[in-house]
Amino acid sequence: MLKTKRMSIVPTFVCTLRCRLCSNHMPAFQNPPRASVEEMKADIDALFALFDHIEWLQFVGGEIFTHKHLDEVFDYCKQYDGRFDRLIVETNATVLPTDKELRSLLSYGRKLKVMISDYGDLSKARDRFAAILEENHIEYVLKKYYGDLGDQHFGGWIDNTACRDLLEPDDYVTRQAAQCAQVRLENMHVFCGKLHRCSNSLFLSELGVCVPNRGDYVELHDSTTREEKRETIRRFYDYPRKSCHYCTWKSGDSAARHGAAEQEK
Ligand code: SF4
Repeated sequence: MLKTKRMSIVPTFVCTLRCRLCSNHMPAFQNPPRASVEEMKADIDALFALFDHIEWLQFVGGEIFTHKHLDEVFDYCKQYDGRFDRLIVETNATVLPTDKELRSLLSYGRKLKVMISDYGDLSKARDRFAAILEENHIEYVLKKYYGDLGDQHFGGWIDNTACRDLLEPDDYVTRQAAQCAQVRLENMHVFCGKLHRCSNSLFLSELGVCVPNRGDYVELHDSTTREEKRETIRRFYDYPRKSCHYCTWKSGDSAARHGAAEQEK
C-alpha cells in the first residue's frame, strides 16, 4: 500500500505577483514554465498508477488561475474520485477562475476546499471569489498575509531565497529536516513528469541551482518499474535530501519572520 497525505500538482510557474521573498522562487524564473493539459493528465495517470491513496490532491502555483484550462484537468481527476479525499486549490485571489474552471470546481461540492492567500489590496478578486464559494457552500480558508506581522498567518514569511548550500552541519540538517512541515505533511510536488518530496526540491531543481541526487525525485514516465518507483517514494522522507541543505524552512519555528508579499519593483 502506498499513500501520501498531500500531492501538489503544479500547473504553472507563472504568477500575477512578484513577491521578493517568494518561497517557491517564482520571480527568479526568467521564462516561467507551464504544463500543458496533456502533460498534467499523463502525470495524474502515473500518480494513480503508483499511489493507492492520496488524502489531498492539490493544485499549487505560481498562480494556478493564470493557466485558464484547468477545468479539463479538474474534470479528468474525477475518474480517480474514490482514490483521493479532497481536491484543494491554492490561489492568491488576484484573478478569478474562468467560468469553465469554476463550474468544474463547484461540481466537487464538499470535496473541494479553496485556500486563499489573502494579500489584502493585492488580492483583488478575494471578495468575489469568497462570495461565490459561500453561495455554493464550499469550504475555504483565508490565510491573512497583510497588516501587522503578529496578525499574519504563521507570523509572516520565512526568507528562503538564498538558493545556495547553507553549509550547516549534517547532524543539524538531519534533525531539522526530519521535523520540517513539508515532511510531516508528506507534501510531494509534481511538475511535468518529475515527482519531488517537497516544493523546495522541485522549484530549486527547476531553477537549476540545486541538482538533485539520485533518489531525491522520481521520473514518472521513465523505464524504471512501478515497484522501483514506489520503493524510491517510500524512502523519500528517510533522510534529508540535497535541497534540505539549501533550505531555511527546516528551521521554521526559530527562523525570523518577514512581512508577506512585498512586491519587487
Ligand atoms: S528541502 Fe528539506 S527542509 Fe526544505 S522544505 Fe523540503 S524537506 Fe523540508
